[in-house]
Amino acid sequence: MSNSDCLFCKIIAGQIPAKIAYQDDKCLAFHDINPQAPTHVLVIPREHIASLKEASASLHNELLGHLLTSAAKIASDLGIAEDGFRTVINTGAKAGQSVFHIHVHVLGGRGLAWPPG
Ligand code: AMP
Ligand code: ZN
Repeated sequence: MSNSDCLFCKIIAGQIPAKIAYQDDKCLAFHDINPQAPTHVLVIPREHIASLKEASASLHNELLGHLLTSAAKIASDLGIAEDGFRTVINTGAKAGQSVFHIHVHVLGGRGLAWPPG
């Protein structure tokens, strides 16, 4: 199900352009418009889920696993897996979520400090 007001649903529908890094029947990955690292890709499900808070164990376990294994494959394909990469899911505005269609950030290509801000 998609949400007509959702930016990432519009990217899935091809109504807003994006630089696609990977896609399959369940997910789409594209380069972040405001990259925070030399490689910064967002992996999103084709199904609209607003955030991790709205995801349910009975409906979404397989899909969420698919997002993570796809993130690892994309990191490998983009050449950032060897040196290490970070996957991030921001949940809620206070945690930095600005687009309410769940997405996994995949960041790499530079050293990444911990803890995050
Ligand atoms: P978050 O703040 O965790 O919700 O992440 C949303 C991300 O989407 C941010 O890193 C934005 O830079 C990115 N973003 C927003 N609009 C676009 C767009 N049209 N194409 C690609 N990335 C986008
Ligand atoms: Zn959406």
